[in-house]
Amino acid sequence: MTTADPATLDCAWLLADPGAAPAQRDMRITLADGRVDALTPLPDAVPGRRRLALPALANAHDHARTHRSATLGAFNQPLESWLPFLGLTPGMDPYLCAATSFSRSLRHGVVDLMVHYTRVQGGMPYVDEAAAVARAARDVGVRIGFAVSMRDRHGIGYSDDATVLAALRPGIREAVAQRLAVKPVEPAQQLAQVDEVAAMVASDGHAAHVDVQYGPTAVQWCSAPLLEAIARASADNGRRVHMHLLETKYQRAWADEAHPGGIVRFLDDIGLLSPRLTLAHATWARPEELALIAERGASIAVNTSSNLGLKSGIAPLAEMLTQGCKVAMGLDGMAFDEDDDALREARLAYALHRGWGYDTTMTPAQLWRFASRGRIAPGAPADIVLLDWDALDDDPLFDDIDPLDLLLARGNGRHIHTVIAGGRTVVDAGRVCGVDELALQAELRGRLRAALASDAGHHGWRRTVQALAQDLAPFYRDGHLGGCCG
Ligand SMILES: [Zn+2]
Repeated sequence: MTTADPATLDCAWLLADPGAAPAQRDMRITLADGRVDALTPLPDAVPGRRRLALPALANAHDHARTHRSATLGAFNQPLESWLPFLGLTPGMDPYLCAATSFSRSLRHGVVDLMVHYTRVQGGMPYVDEAAAVARAARDVGVRIGFAVSMRDRHGIGYSDDATVLAALRPGIREAVAQRLAVKPVEPAQQLAQVDEVAAMVASDGHAAHVDVQYGPTAVQWCSAPLLEAIARASADNGRRVHMHLLETKYQRAWADEAHPGGIVRFLDDIGLLSPRLTLAHATWARPEELALIAERGASIAVNTSSNLGLKSGIAPLAEMLTQGCKVAMGLDGMAFDEDDDALREARLAYALHRGWGYDTTMTPAQLWRFASRGRIAPGAPADIVLLDWDALDDDPLFDDIDPLDLLLARGNGRHIHTVIAGGRTVVDAGRVCGVDELALQAELRGRLRAALASDAGHHGWRRTVQALAQDLAPFYRDGHLGGCCG
């Protein structure tokens, strides 16, 4: 399965800094010690199939989920009703789940990805599960941020569990309470769990490819004391924080009700709004909130496909850029074709946010800074994707068409031939080198089907989740949150 790591990469086209620097024809990239050493023009056209080299992609918000939404029967559900569907499958080996998820991402050109680990597979101590995820990242060849999921309230909806339960049909209340009601864990204990995971990462030799972070799930799911404790700990030890914010209009309504002084102002008041913070979504953030986020240097991960798939809306990405926010692309396990295709995701974001008519609200250079962490330049980490340019540029007529235009018009994951991460070949001929992805998928699917077949309670719980999804609709739509969500 191993492929020799290359000393040089020859390409028909080099997009070293897409949108910011012009494409260069017939180039050699020399690699040394995991970095780009030199870029040299070649005297003649590179023989064989044409390749285009570009910086590897990054995914700033995700959860290492392996089962796709529609497979779980959750297509067409808005976020609030979709969440319980994620718990339909029995817990599985976390290594298998993470390795299959990471492989899919890597094949599509992503070498850096965020894992907000909100869905615990269970059956083992948390730190052992985190260790399995870290091993999966190492074996597949991705670098991850691992945010330990933290929450202590509102297990079923954006209100205390008793209030939401009372809004459900009586027949499902007990089952829902048993599975979903929150059993709060003290902030100190939750912080200690993050320390434990960080110690494991250091002692097991994962520090180069795993960055442990605090992962409060969202303000509506975390009490003020928990968020304050996280803000203090992050300021003390410099660890990053990763959290959802204002993903849906119902979260917007909840936030305005719960924080009349402003939810972003609240985050700032407790010291959470800092350069160490990444906020996922901010789909319903207002300009003045974006201005404050920008001023404090926090980042926003925008999840375009996820926002469409879960009917959340279209994030104000152009406004974020105008306000000077640091923005990054997230896939949130919900790429448009449910395939973790980061190239298509970048194109979709560009199509939605570049501006209408003659307006330009996002440039290709801005898009690339959003979708990737770097550029191909001497001294930079050798994180490079090679595309099969003959497959993409399959009907050329003119020799002055910018390859970036073609890439943004039609590039997608199936054009990716090779992925280099830190100088190592991690995808070759479209296949992950470090693990046998197809075998892992087959193993996981087999185990999952066997577990479902032997779990008699499974059908009942599915029906309960479907009923819960239905009952949550009037709860939000008709404004049971103190009349705020109409
Ligand atoms: Zn998410």
